[in-house]
Amino acid sequence: MPRLFFALWPDDDTRKQLQAVMQSIPPNIGRAVPLENLHITLAFLGQVNEEITKGLEAAANQIRTQKFELKLDTIGCWRKSGILWLAPVDIPEKLGLLVSRVNEVSAASGITLDGRPFKPHIALARKAGMPPERDQIPSVIWQVESFTLVESITHHTGAQYRVLDSWPLLN
Ligand code: ATP
Ligand code: MG
Repeated sequence: MPRLFFALWPDDDTRKQLQAVMQSIPPNIGRAVPLENLHITLAFLGQVNEEITKGLEAAANQIRTQKFELKLDTIGCWRKSGILWLAPVDIPEKLGLLVSRVNEVSAASGITLDGRPFKPHIALARKAGMPPERDQIPSVIWQVESFTLVESITHHTGAQYRVLDSWPLLN
């Protein structure tokens, strides 16, 4: 069964900005996540069968929340997981609303979520010890205009992601 998650998937302009972030991180800081894999998870669904996925996609079609600007302006490291992350200092209300709606449709489709509090972030590197100084890292301004359903395919070399579906946010 496919392993799925809802995500914000960077557009070309945002990915270019993220490339600048990756280039300003010292190379010895950990194992860098490939540029094409950078994303923000909205809700992790786990293994989902085809029937539930169809219901989920139909329900996601009904989500009507608005576009927003996301400023990724802080960098840090989680000691336990070793993840170096880029994140917003301020979480836009419209992002919170989108996550609530995505969680609702997932639960209504019969998916059990882990219920951990949502901490929006982009994982930049794994096995990281210390974050670089925040002022060495350029901020990313992301005009978020859609959300996506993504499949995670596990290879021994790391995860590969495939965008299955994408829904526009409203003006
Ligand atoms: P890998 O596990 O293969 O090293 P990965 O963690 O990027 O790579 P997945 O485990 O498939 O790939 O996870 C996909 C996305 O969902 C990632 O952004 C990951 O951080 C997030 N994620 C995974 N498990 C959970 C969970 N239990 N709760 C919240 N987010 C999760
Ligand atoms: Mg994982």
